[in-house]
Amino acid sequence: MENRQVNLHCHTYLCKHAVGTVKEYCQKAVEQGLRVLGFSEHSPFPDNRYTSTRMDYTQLELYCQAIDEARAEFPQLTILKGLEIDVDPAYPLEFYQKELKERLHLDFISSGAHFVHDADGNVIFARTNAHYPLELVRMFMEKNIFLMKSGLFDYITHPDMVSGSIDAWTPEIKELFTQVMKTSVECGVPLEINAYGYRKPIIDYPSGRRHAYPWPPVWEVAAEYGVSCVVSSDAHRPEDVFGNMPDVFAIAEKNHLRCVNAELAAQLGIRG
Ligand SMILES: [Zn+2]
Ligand SMILES: [Zn+2]
Repeated sequence: MENRQVNLHCHTYLCKHAVGTVKEYCQKAVEQGLRVLGFSEHSPFPDNRYTSTRMDYTQLELYCQAIDEARAEFPQLTILKGLEIDVDPAYPLEFYQKELKERLHLDFISSGAHFVHDADGNVIFARTNAHYPLELVRMFMEKNIFLMKSGLFDYITHPDMVSGSIDAWTPEIKELFTQVMKTSVECGVPLEINAYGYRKPIIDYPSGRRHAYPWPPVWEVAAEYGVSCVVSSDAHRPEDVFGNMPDVFAIAEKNHLRCVNAELAAQLGIRG
C-alpha cells in the first residue's frame, strides 16, 4: 500500500458544515484510487455543546452504522471508523477513551486544537486573520502538546491551524512550534499536514499573502526534528476525498518528512 492510497480524514453531512453521506465518500474514494478511507467526524458531547459544528450525541450510533453498512458495500476499500475529537476540559480524558473510542469500537481517534479555554473559561476558536497575541497562540500550542502527551490520539490534526490567527513568522512563533515538534517525536505521535486549508481563500496578512494553513515554515521546523507526518484531505465534500493531497504531499517531500499514512493505516486496520 502506498501513502497516496490512504486518507484518514473526512467528514459527512452529520457535522452540519460538510455534505455527503458515508457511501458517497466511499464511492468517490474508490473512483479516485484510494485503498483506505478513515472517517473522522467531529465528536459530539453528551450535553450537545458546540452542536452547530457536529452531530447530535444521539447520532453516534447512526454514524457508526453507516460505516458498517459501507464496509459491506465497498469490500475493495478498507474503511476505518474514527472521530476527530475535540477535548473540552468539562469532560475528563477517560470520557474520550471509554465513552467514545472503546464503547463505539473506533479504529482510531485524532484530535487537534480547534479551540482553547482562556483563564476565565471563555472558549476561543482558531480563526482566520484574527491577529491573536502570542500568549493566546501559546495556548493553542500547549493544547496540542497536552493532546500528544495524553497518549490517547493516533495523530494530531492540523497542528498549524492557529497559523491563520498569526500575523508573521517570528523567533517566538518558531520556538512555540519547536516545542510541538519535540513533543511529537518524544511521544511518537505524528502530525497532520492538512489539505483543507488549500481549499479555503488566500488571506492578506501583514507579512504577505498566504493560506491560513498549512504554513510552510512550520513544516521546515518539523523537518529539523524528524517529525513523522500524516497527509490528509480533510474532505468536507465527497469530491474532495483526495482534494489537494498532492499539494501537501509536496510539502512533506520538499522537507524530507517521513509520511506514515500507509504505516498508520496498517496498524489501525489490524487493531480494528
Ligand atoms: Zn479539524
Ligand atoms: Zn476535519
